[in-house]
Amino acid sequence: MDLSYILNHLGEEDRGKHRGAVSPPIYQSSIFAFDTVAAMREGFRDELDRTVYTRGNNPTVEILRKKVAALEGAEDALLFGSGAAAIAAGVVAVVAQGDHIVCVQKPYSWTRTLLRELLAKFGVTHTFVDATDTTAVEAAITPSTRLIVLESPNTMTFEQQDLAAVAALARARGIRTLLDNSYATPLHQQPIALGIDLVAHSATKYLNGHSDVVAGVLCGSKGLIRDVFKGPYMTLGAMMSPHDAWLMIRGLRTLPVRMRQIAETTARVIAFLQAHPVVERLWYPHAPHDPQFTLTQRQLQGASGLFSFTIRTDTTAGVERFCNALTRCLMTVSWGGYESLLFPVAAVYPPDTPVAAHRADRVPVNLVRLSVGLEEADVLIADLAQALDRV
Ligand SMILES: *Cc1c(COP(=O)(O)O)cnc(C)c1O
Repeated sequence: MDLSYILNHLGEEDRGKHRGAVSPPIYQSSIFAFDTVAAMREGFRDELDRTVYTRGNNPTVEILRKKVAALEGAEDALLFGSGAAAIAAGVVAVVAQGDHIVCVQKPYSWTRTLLRELLAKFGVTHTFVDATDTTAVEAAITPSTRLIVLESPNTMTFEQQDLAAVAALARARGIRTLLDNSYATPLHQQPIALGIDLVAHSATKYLNGHSDVVAGVLCGSKGLIRDVFKGPYMTLGAMMSPHDAWLMIRGLRTLPVRMRQIAETTARVIAFLQAHPVVERLWYPHAPHDPQFTLTQRQLQGASGLFSFTIRTDTTAGVERFCNALTRCLMTVSWGGYESLLFPVAAVYPPDTPVAAHRADRVPVNLVRLSVGLEEADVLIADLAQALDRV
């Protein structure tokens, strides 16, 4: 199926049902009524594919579900009210009391909390490993390991895992794999084809791309998705609203053009920053100096616009002068929007924290993460240049 068919038509073919409306209607209804008891019984038989109640399935959400599954090359998908909900549902559906999870060393913060705090309460144990090395993943596996949680690249320092290799060693042992694919998008990395079982996204980021919806997706085989649906999806109820699904269908239409433009602008911004004396070190999987650049070339089919760099300065005061001087990048959490976004790690430390004091296993205090948006490259470079002069 070609990309523009997925984005423009899939799930929307029957426009005649809606008097030819080109943009799909928002089914703003919590419930769906039946003409007969027999029809209602049939609805209960399969709440995932019929329309009974919007916590289970909704026609507007279903359009998006088809598109997202097709983009990931997955048999099926579920939409959630956040990326954190999608990841948690995938994990909870696979593990039970006494099971063990192997997880990448630096996952998204709430993925870490899910394992460390929530699942620990229910007797599920975990090991965090430096999964840039597949043999470290293998060494961490115990007889009770049921799941390997991956995030490639992650979104602060962009470490990657060899997905085909980890998937193969997991399959050989009957262990499930779940990958957070938010950074690469389904356009640039197809984990299902590499043998990964469950693929999650924070759709809040590139998939929706407009900083107006918090959303998550989980993709996998029909059987696995049905397990997730019958378990955490229906019981925890962290579903996506029909209105958010409509917004996300709209956001998704321009994913390929946004990603193409962002990649082009990012290459120019990176070239500028790398040559700048105040920029100490830069993390970006597509930079030839990246320690995993060979894996990038093999595993990623295109570039994203999220990267990090450290500012050459003695204390975080220098970082603050740089960040406060920027006028075209919004300082905030999150990333992947149409607008350039900036996250300074200094914001989670007290003022004037010495850069030399940072712990080697933590993200450096002088690190700044930039998410390049759709501004003109020259505008961003000029803004970064004047702000770097203030350090
Ligand atoms: C933001 C993010 C999440 C969480 O997604 P929400 O939509 O904020 O719940 C998960 N993984 C990664 C890599 C993220 O950047």
